[in-house]
Amino acid sequence: MIKKLLFTSIFIIQCTFAFSATYYVAVNASDNNPGTKAKPFATIQKAQAAISPGDTVYIRGGNYRMSEAQIAHKQGIYASVTYLDKSGKPGAYLNYFAFPGEKPVFDYADVKPADQRVIAFMQMGSYIHLKGFDVIGVQVTIKGHTQSECFENHGDNNIYEQLSMHDGMAIGFYLLSGSNNLILNCDAYRNWDYFSETGRGGNTDGFGCHPRPGSKNNVFRGCRAWFNSDDGYDLINSFEATTFDHCWAMYNGFGSDFKSLGDGNGFKAGGYARRPASELPNPIPQNTIEFCLAVHNKASGFYANHHVNGNIWYNNTAYRNSNNFNMLNRLLDDVKADVPGYAHKLRNNLGYKGGKELTEIDKAKCDLANNYFDLNLDATDDDFISTDEALLTAPRQKDGSLPDNGFMKLKPGSKFIDKGVDIGFKYVGKAPDLGCFEAGGKYAY
Ligand code: CA
Ligand code: CA
Repeated sequence: MIKKLLFTSIFIIQCTFAFSATYYVAVNASDNNPGTKAKPFATIQKAQAAISPGDTVYIRGGNYRMSEAQIAHKQGIYASVTYLDKSGKPGAYLNYFAFPGEKPVFDYADVKPADQRVIAFMQMGSYIHLKGFDVIGVQVTIKGHTQSECFENHGDNNIYEQLSMHDGMAIGFYLLSGSNNLILNCDAYRNWDYFSETGRGGNTDGFGCHPRPGSKNNVFRGCRAWFNSDDGYDLINSFEATTFDHCWAMYNGFGSDFKSLGDGNGFKAGGYARRPASELPNPIPQNTIEFCLAVHNKASGFYANHHVNGNIWYNNTAYRNSNNFNMLNRLLDDVKADVPGYAHKLRNNLGYKGGKELTEIDKAKCDLANNYFDLNLDATDDDFISTDEALLTAPRQKDGSLPDNGFMKLKPGSKFIDKGVDIGFKYVGKAPDLGCFEAGGKYAY
């Protein structure tokens, strides 16, 4: 029986290889080419027309200076330069990968369609894996309330991996609908819309996830957001829960010269502004923020943003934010009534050098255990291997995972080691540590 299973799986693997094709996209190429390595396509749009589930498009390195003539799809105010509407299948993704060892950069500085929102990649398809390229210079051309985006997702089961969205006026990644998407090891930085409205860039988040009803199980893992003019990560108006796992947010709400710009929260986890109860989801989702790091964001590192339910906050580290942990909630039936946070579940969190450490929380109405404020443990520099913030933006590891250095990792002997409570994650020693790095664990130095 085992032999037969083995044979069957080998047969399936061989078939997958046999039937999957490879295409290439390169700078200074032509969409009249057949898409081979020697004669590559010029655009991902053209490659999409050629591929089938299981196929891979390799994007060669270099600077792709995009033009308005390449806008693939216009609908209402949306101008999508690349419009991905072909889907893969389970076990047979459509792969759009940087050629191994090369760095493609898509530059949108010349794409300025009048009165339209620019979407560099509009993702309508499902089972698509994008990996290893940069999106820069995305423009905003509308003077009133607006936004542009590097990526907008609507499909399901997509993977966004090792993508960098930077030095533009657009939101890095934006999700309105779609389930089971994974945003893995992506960076969004120095994005600021200085043109629309007040010029403060109040819509330019690194990552925005605002799922509609039924758009579930979206996970952000290993991502970083810094110097985005509004927030690092924003979950306002979510109808379903989202997870942020092992993500970092720093210097959001500031320009790269620390000029004060938009809201400036690291993780803005929920909220519906002043929308009445009749317009809110029922039940209100509880978002999960775990093993995340927030450093020197203009406003709050971890912020509940007038949410109408509690969130789950596990093993996060906050350092030098105006408010390290701000659990502000709102009442369901009274849209004007902001109240100290209720129904939040916090475990094993660690904060240091916040303007304020923990604000706007009704502890009696929350589920708290083994956080630094519960244990009355005050950090000093001596608890950490390093507090050198230059380490936050260090290059990623070869596999794309977060840089592995000493920043905010606990020194041997730190008072935070083994002070946490077991919440089902792997740990080293007698018990979990506080904060986002387990001493001696995966991120040990
Ligand atoms: Ca925002
Ligand atoms: Ca431990």
